[in-house]
Amino acid sequence: MANTESSINPFETAKQQIDIVADLIGINDGTREVLKHPKRELTVNFPVRMDDGSYRVFTGHRVQYNMARGPCKGGIRYHPQVSLDEVRALAAWMTWKCAVVNIPYGGAKGGVICDPKHMSKGELERLTRRYTSEISSIIGPEMDIPAPDVYTDSQTMSWIMDTYSMQKGYSVPGVVTGKPLSLGGSEGRGEATGRGCAYVIRESAKDLGLRVKNGTVAIQGFGNAGSVAANILAEEQGAKIVAVSDSKGGIYKADGFNPRAVEEHKRKTGSVVGFPGAKAISNEEVLETQADILIPAALENQITKKNADKIRAKIVAEAANGPTLPEADTVLFQKKITVLPDILANAGGVTVSYFEWAQDIQGFFWPLAEVNNRLERVMVQSYNDVHKVATERKVHNRTAAYVLAIQRVVDAIRIRGIYP
Ligand code: GLU
Repeated sequence: MANTESSINPFETAKQQIDIVADLIGINDGTREVLKHPKRELTVNFPVRMDDGSYRVFTGHRVQYNMARGPCKGGIRYHPQVSLDEVRALAAWMTWKCAVVNIPYGGAKGGVICDPKHMSKGELERLTRRYTSEISSIIGPEMDIPAPDVYTDSQTMSWIMDTYSMQKGYSVPGVVTGKPLSLGGSEGRGEATGRGCAYVIRESAKDLGLRVKNGTVAIQGFGNAGSVAANILAEEQGAKIVAVSDSKGGIYKADGFNPRAVEEHKRKTGSVVGFPGAKAISNEEVLETQADILIPAALENQITKKNADKIRAKIVAEAANGPTLPEADTVLFQKKITVLPDILANAGGVTVSYFEWAQDIQGFFWPLAEVNNRLERVMVQSYNDVHKVATERKVHNRTAAYVLAIQRVVDAIRIRGIYP
């Protein structure tokens, strides 16, 4: 999905967010500088043999933003628009995300500049294995644990696990999360991002006195996070999914879709577009749909100062990372729209990644009900923690989530001290 404001540098946004919070809670200049710099960055250029026998050189990054609270954690994305600054921003957001839900990790992110939609499975496998090999000196279960992100999945994670294990000479399931069950994956990981998002929407709706049952929902992006959130909100909470979109366009139906049928249509045709009985709308129109709940579940920079005023939802739940620009945040706040920020709303994914890693390390696996119960507890607790800070400090939820997260990271930095 093309960014609506592709000229905006997400790392500048990430640094602005740090400054806002540092001013608010009084963080000294030295610590502020630490927070605004990634700890370690690796850029790799590597050749991949294409199906026609030619070779192409790809560029990938892995950024380890901060590891004060534990090993680094964060996904790997494959996308033509990946840039080092985007990966830096995403790695910073992973740091705050792990801190908001209070799991013992720092933050990292990886990305490879490529167009996975135009690559064969064999080409993607060779790209993944070579990229893994190139970054293998800085990943590992105690150092940095990758996971799926945009256009990577459990198959990608299996190749990473296998490549890393082949180099070690023994199987290392804890080096990545988001693996299939047969390789040490966790029950519930596949749907954890969407499920976690549905839990925080439920909690926030309770606080606002809003009924999710029969409430309307618009979702931008119908990948792993968006489609699962749609299923759970419709099936477990009785919401009506009235608008959805993907990179090819959007669809609208006033009395609501059966999200499973839309999913099936997308699986067969490659897009939600053309779903029988739906009105075709644009990606931008999905954001501006009259619906109680809006879920941006695609890429960064979608809600900007240009369209923030046109958002009509009561709750915006950010299943994507970085969909709202800081200038748009202010507009939404003035319009009394409740934003459930990305580092809270999509933290279900990394939370179950943490459970997966813990299970791999113990070699002891939990049933689905236990995973989902623990996930629900983490999400409800984190929502309440954020809501409490927002109420006490009279700030919006994003600032509250950042206050909570950055304070936790700063506490870890301070108590550890600066080496040497
Ligand atoms: N890519 C996901 C995110 O942005 C999951 C990361 C993980 O599980 O480590 O939160």
